[in-house]
Amino acid sequence: MNPGFAGRWGTGAVLACAVAACAGPLSLLPDVDSGLAVAEEENQRELYLRDWQDLMIRAQTVFSRLVLANADLCDNARTTYFGIQIQTAESYDAEFRAPAVRVLGVGDLPTIVYVWPGSPADVGGLLAGDQIVRVDGALIGSGVTGRGNAVRALHESGAATGVGEVTVTRDNVERTVTINPVKACDYSLAVQRSDSINAYADGTRVVAASGLIRFATDDAQLALVLGHELAHAAMHHVERQSANAVAGGLLGALFAGPVGLFAAPASLGAFSQAYESEADYVGTYFAARAGYGVDGVADLWRQMAIRSPGTIHATSSTHPSSAVRFLAIEQTAREIAGKRAVTQPLVPNLKH
Ligand SMILES: [Zn+2]
Repeated sequence: MNPGFAGRWGTGAVLACAVAACAGPLSLLPDVDSGLAVAEEENQRELYLRDWQDLMIRAQTVFSRLVLANADLCDNARTTYFGIQIQTAESYDAEFRAPAVRVLGVGDLPTIVYVWPGSPADVGGLLAGDQIVRVDGALIGSGVTGRGNAVRALHESGAATGVGEVTVTRDNVERTVTINPVKACDYSLAVQRSDSINAYADGTRVVAASGLIRFATDDAQLALVLGHELAHAAMHHVERQSANAVAGGLLGALFAGPVGLFAAPASLGAFSQAYESEADYVGTYFAARAGYGVDGVADLWRQMAIRSPGTIHATSSTHPSSAVRFLAIEQTAREIAGKRAVTQPLVPNLKH
């Protein structure tokens, strides 16, 4: 601190306090109106929800493109893609419910808060703000349970019949629309609120931390990392690691669990590195096939090195080093560019 400042202000304040026996800050602070503070709290909750919704739409848009464009490479692909995001007021903590109603229009019934442009739901005529009452004639219910019912009923309806009859209420009028879902890899994306830069696949879904989504500077990079996780799922790495675990007897428990982007348990060992390299390779193809430019996308791993220098030369890790990953993805991008130049199909090269 500037000694002149301390001398001029500190001495006087100490003397004043000695007389008045005061405690706490010495400065004369702004007098904030408590009513304005409450209003600002609501404003900040709305800002938070808008930011979170933008992040969700960005991540789900990239993931949608990946599961649609790579259906031919996923052996579990089914006609379950409708292209809607569903929420309900009860999904939010009490203090965020009123802001969520204002920002997203959510109600007690499962509410469509986003319709992907050009998706089957869009083509069928569903709109953001529609509240789902029935699927295939069966009542869905309200709240978190109703949302779960709606998601499950749409998934099962599409998988079984390739069509879904959705009854919604819009402006207090019920209407029923028929939707023809399209084929996509049958994995969902869950976004976790976390500043960590990581993601994993657990065999049925991809889970990505919001920190990772923000870390990916553009959608091509986001497609690379979500494509990496989708590749783990599509190549059955989780099940194959479990199979290795079973074969390994006592080591079994060490191999169980999800496979991640770079922070899997250190006990996973050599199998893990090979699967990680394969997920990078196939994931780069997945991103390219979804229409993302993969030239330069490897830069993500240079950014990772700047952020986490421990990844630069990781010899005993479960994952390849960020240096190796950068170079391998660059090489894969060149391989893809070569295939594009001679209009060869964009499919990963297999050993046999
Ligand atoms: Zn991985």
